[in-house]
Amino acid sequence: MHFLFKKIFFIIYVSLFILSCSQIKKIKFDDVVQFGKKIEKDTALLKLFNVENDVALGKKLDEEMKRNPKDYPFYFYNQPIQFLQDIVNKIISSPLIKYRNIFKYKVQIISDDNIINAFCTPGGYIYVYTGLIRSLKNEASLAAVLAHEIAHAELRHAKNRILKAYGVDLIKSIIIGDNPDKLKELAGNFFSGAYLMKNSREDEYEADEYSFKYLQSTLWYPGAIKYFFDVIKSDAKLHIVERLEDTHPIPQDRIENIDKMLKDAGIKDPDEKSLKTLDYKMFVKTMP
Ligand SMILES: [Zn+2]
Repeated sequence: MHFLFKKIFFIIYVSLFILSCSQIKKIKFDDVVQFGKKIEKDTALLKLFNVENDVALGKKLDEEMKRNPKDYPFYFYNQPIQFLQDIVNKIISSPLIKYRNIFKYKVQIISDDNIINAFCTPGGYIYVYTGLIRSLKNEASLAAVLAHEIAHAELRHAKNRILKAYGVDLIKSIIIGDNPDKLKELAGNFFSGAYLMKNSREDEYEADEYSFKYLQSTLWYPGAIKYFFDVIKSDAKLHIVERLEDTHPIPQDRIENIDKMLKDAGIKDPDEKSLKTLDYKMFVKTMP
């Protein structure tokens, strides 16, 4: 029953996406219909798709984004990029990071002050919108969002969704460059806030939990993702909230989940040293 519900929801979701975005060739409807039948087969296929494939796919998606500067206006000022990269480097020094030496873990900034979001492709290519950076109030919450994105890569969440939609053979042909049209289609499906980018509730809880655990080995407050939720809740521009909630759903229980983790770990209330509010304000103020 539960599975049937999920299948119906999936079909409705993809149908809505197909209606809403006509310029990109969508995931074939046959794939969707086959989705339920292919689960077991896919589980076997998932094993064939290794972490090196994640990096290769992430690289291809990155190249595709760079070919579309209108959709993805990359930000070129080195100092802010380095500021974010230093945060990423501290997070990935957590002993819980498995793919530190395999995944890229390179952060890039996209110039769009109207989008409060960040995402990470398979293989650890991390993208953060200027709208997110400018709307956060302290360094700890930026670190928490970056740690959440790193967790999606480490736990290989997007890879599972992409494989289910495309199958391993097609993904491999994209990676070796045999299929530029499919790459374009995949990038379109991945980046347009659609199914492939949408993290499930379960993925979100797991990424929050790992964000918390990664931050425990740093000086930042491990519960800082809460401040990011506050920004989203207080944002008056509804379309932005929708866009973000499309990719990272934020139900009330995600907040409660973090509170429980803080309590269980006996973590004290944050202070200036664990939030870095003043330094962060200065950073945002001087950011071109
Ligand atoms: Zn997420």
